[in-house]
Amino acid sequence: MSTIFDKIISGEIPCDEVFSDEKCLAFKDISPQAPTHILIIPRKPIKSLKEIEKEDAELLGHLLIKGTEIANDAGLESWRTVINTGVEAGQTVFHLHIHIIGGRKLSWPPG
Ligand code: AMP
Repeated sequence: MSTIFDKIISGEIPCDEVFSDEKCLAFKDISPQAPTHILIIPRKPIKSLKEIEKEDAELLGHLLIKGTEIANDAGLESWRTVINTGVEAGQTVFHLHIHIIGGRKLSWPPG
């Protein structure tokens, strides 16, 4: 089943793009939880961390490295990297995505 992020990748619906390459796409979250809230998604349709395989190791590393580059480009000194996995953890879109959240003091532990 096609998710909203698949539709963003295909260009069917627009996004506020921050970065794009052959492996991933990064765009601003439509409902930001902090001054900076960016999502990084693989172009490969992986539903969540539950579905990753050993062959995805390079791709996952690429997403994390891009996350750091994007956080640096946004001028963040501190940020939180979040991957919600499964409904109980708060995952609402079942296409793997990394949240980069920063620009304000973040509390811990999360709810
Ligand atoms: P999660 O709850 O971890 O699955 O995160 C899904 C995120 O996608 C939420 O923070 C939403 O605000 C965000 N989101 C949903 N639809 C869009 C969209 N069309 N463009 C940008 N972000 C979106």
